Amino acid sequence: MTTNAELFETAQTLMPGGVSSPVRAHGSVGGTPVSMVAGEGAWLTDAEGRKYVDLVGSWGPALLGHRHPAVIDAVHQAVDAGLGFGTSHPNEAKLAELVRGRVPGAERIRFVSTGTEATMTAIRLARGATGKSIVVKFAGCYHGHSDGLLAAAGSGVATMGLPGSAGVTEAQASETVVIEYNDRAALEQVFAEHGEKVAAVITEATPANMGVVPPGEGFNAFIREITQKYGALMIFDEVMTGFRITEAGYWGASGRAEGWAPDLFTFGKVIGGGLPTAALAGGAEVMEHLAPSGPVYHAGTLSGNPVAMAAGAATLENADAAVYSHIDEKAQTVADALTAALAEAGVDHTLQKVGNLFSVAFGTSSTGVHNYAEAGAQEAFRYGPFFHAMLDAGVYLPPSVFEAWFLSAAHDDAAVEQILGALPAAAEAAAQAG
Ligand SMILES: *Cc1c(COP(=O)(O)O)cnc(C)c1O
Repeated sequence: MTTNAELFETAQTLMPGGVSSPVRAHGSVGGTPVSMVAGEGAWLTDAEGRKYVDLVGSWGPALLGHRHPAVIDAVHQAVDAGLGFGTSHPNEAKLAELVRGRVPGAERIRFVSTGTEATMTAIRLARGATGKSIVVKFAGCYHGHSDGLLAAAGSGVATMGLPGSAGVTEAQASETVVIEYNDRAALEQVFAEHGEKVAAVITEATPANMGVVPPGEGFNAFIREITQKYGALMIFDEVMTGFRITEAGYWGASGRAEGWAPDLFTFGKVIGGGLPTAALAGGAEVMEHLAPSGPVYHAGTLSGNPVAMAAGAATLENADAAVYSHIDEKAQTVADALTAALAEAGVDHTLQKVGNLFSVAFGTSSTGVHNYAEAGAQEAFRYGPFFHAMLDAGVYLPPSVFEAWFLSAAHDDAAVEQILGALPAAAEAAAQAG
């Protein structure tokens, strides 16, 4: 048998850091990354044959659990007809109709392959449609890794962004203004100073890439209002939350009831059912600025791939009301047990939760966590020992404290029991961390 350690050693000679995406290297929790070789329902099996309850869910796509029969059948059927033809395919309209049936504001949809491509294209579209240049983003909101979105906050509130990664130029970052999340005054100041030039405000529908950070009461509606006032677009990044928090994403828990919609949505993760598909969507008028209807270029060899479309459509077709209420209920059970175990072990924390997405932030109870500065100020060192205690007890958590925990429709009582049983020792490990 090849061990996880041997696999990682080999991988490091072949791939930078031994991985295809950084968080998989377990850098922030330490230890040897696990190589998973199979998934079934709520469970994963690693290369050494160990089984874990999965709380990563492929970073979100596995809403129905791994190897859901309907999804696997749909993929088999699509594969049997060929892997893709580089032409239009009936499965595209099928998935598009399923999306629009849930999110009416998605009048037109452009399929792409990753969330990064969806937000990158949404921004180009916003600039093309408005003729303006500046993009406003919030610190700690992750929108994929395109250059302009890898910007860090400048020194003053309304100053232009600085490169957030080596390889991003000052020129690229300078078109992005980065402000703290949940800060209405900062957003007002940006518009007061640069309002005529702002093409779009992009925001995670509810942030979940700095840990989960709930939008303050009315914050999304405020973004909607101020963008409308200045003729900028609101890009609602639902790559993580889309079709996970309610059947209509986080918009279904916010804008739908409050009576507003963003100009553009971006979707990923669940929409592809585990295969590489993402999308941008919005009103017909703005979306028709995209080529070939309009002058804003976007194309993709694999866009709308029929196998990926089939996986996404089967996932949405099977994600019914019972699925969402099941996930909500199990998430509540696990979140309650998590916070109870930490309290019992005397670990100061806040439980950060929006719908069925949640995470924990250590040492933050005096301030709470409302933005990236507060998220970053937490006692992150407590998470490594916590993570490893859970791993040893057969529970696979996100290998970073800044990621959300994902449950699925396949998390049954046995899976939840295993998580609850593991929590007390892990909470103790977090308490002992120093
Ligand atoms: C995951 C994620 C992305 C990037 O999607 P990829 O498919 O990894 O490129 C963008 N926005 C949000 C909110 C995400 O969670």
